This record gives sequence, C-alpha cells and structure tokens, in this order.
Amino acid sequence: MSRGNGQDHETRFERARRAMVTDQIARRGVRDPNVLRAMSRVPRERFVPPDSVDFAYDDRPLPIGHGQTISQPYVVALMTEALELGPGDRVLEIGTGSGYAAAVLAECAREVDTIERHEGLAASARARLAELGYANVRVRVGDGTLGWPEAAPFDAIVATAGGPTVPRALLAQLAVGGRLVMPVGAMKNAQTLVRVVRTFDDRFEEDDLGGVAFVPLIGAQGWEA
Ligand code: SAH
Repeated sequence: MSRGNGQDHETRFERARRAMVTDQIARRGVRDPNVLRAMSRVPRERFVPPDSVDFAYDDRPLPIGHGQTISQPYVVALMTEALELGPGDRVLEIGTGSGYAAAVLAECAREVDTIERHEGLAASARARLAELGYANVRVRVGDGTLGWPEAAPFDAIVATAGGPTVPRALLAQLAVGGRLVMPVGAMKNAQTLVRVVRTFDDRFEEDDLGGVAFVPLIGAQGWEA
C-alpha cells in the first residue's frame, strides 16, 4: 500500500484502532457496547506526541511530556466501563493529561468536566478536544483532588492518577447513585483500582477492580508535590 497521503494514513490508523478494540479490549472482557464504540471512534493518534503516532495503538501507556503519560487503552476502557455511564450523565475527570480519556468519556456521557494541574497539558488538551469537535468537554487548570464544587454533583467521577486515599472532596461531589473510579495505594506508582458507589446520601460501597500503575495524584487531598 502506498503511504504519504492523508487518506492512506486515515486507513492505517482506523485499522489499528479496530484491532486495538478487538485484541486488547473486547478480548480482555470489556463488554459495554458504548465503551467499545467510543474506543473505536476516538482517534488516539491525535492525542500522542507527533513522534509517537506509530505507537498510538500499542497496548501500553506512552509519554506525553511533563513526566506524564496517556494511559493504556485497555485501562481507559476498563475504567470507563466501571463508571456505567448513561447518555444523560455528567462526569468529572481528574487528570486530563492528553485529553484522550476525556474524549472517550465524552462519547459515552452528556458532559465531561476535566481538571489538569499542568497548565501546558491542559492547554493542548483543550485545543485538541475542540479541534476534534468535543463541545461537551470543559478543561480546567487546578487541583483536581478538590473536585469542581460549582459543577457538582456528578453522576460519575474518575481519577486517572493514583492517590493514597479517595479524596473526601470527590466523595462529597458524587451524586447519590453515582460511581467513582480511581487508583488508590500506599505507594506512589502502584495502586489498586477502586470503585465507590454512593448508594445513599451517607453510604458508600467499595469494590476492587485489580492492580494498576498510574502516575501520582498530586494535591491537597493526594500526594505532596
Ligand atoms: N487521562 C489522561 C491520563 C493522564 S496521566 C489521558 O488520557 O491522557 C494523569 C494526569 O493527572 C497527569 O497529566 C497529571 O499532571 C495529572 N494530575 C496529577 N495530579 C493532579 C491533580 N491533583 N489535579 C489535576 N491533575 C492532576
């Protein structure tokens, strides 16, 4: 196949994306059709640095600058599925990074508010999401461990960085019936993926979705910088 024009590149990435959904995500047990559809729509090659586009559909995280990473595709799918999103839901994401997970969430929910502590990452994610037409995503610079109180409550909250505990502020901003998914652990670079469901105003049920390795969540209710 010839290469070098936009059309061929499009085809190459779309094929890689289809293989990613089948081989890395569906094969490992992700079933939610909305999540599989979202993963097959979001152009991951647009969220990685230019010199990494050839690896955009690899089964691993990739560096995005500032010592941060775009998460492994399977982990994004697993976390999104665990949020059990419906089309009317409002979602808060902590750790915008490249904006990739925000785009996946935006495909599955009504609105996504996402917070990033690195101004540079937030600015490029914002530009990229706008270019791709994700009008239902708002990116804010700040400490996501404090949530986004003016926009609360949220039907779903996801943190894509790992903290020592689930921030109290995030639990307080979860709607009754809402789901929170986040990596939690006593070490800075290895965590357990935890899901918390707010079953009543004063009741939170927690389950464990397995081991993960995220970058640290740094902030007032996370790790110290
Ligand atoms: N969801 C991202 C993954 C980014 S990695 C993606 O799809 O690309 C985690 C991100 O969390 C990093 O960009 C890091 O800067 C950010 N982060 C860490 N602590 C944070 C905090 N307290 N508030 C907001 N962002 C935070």
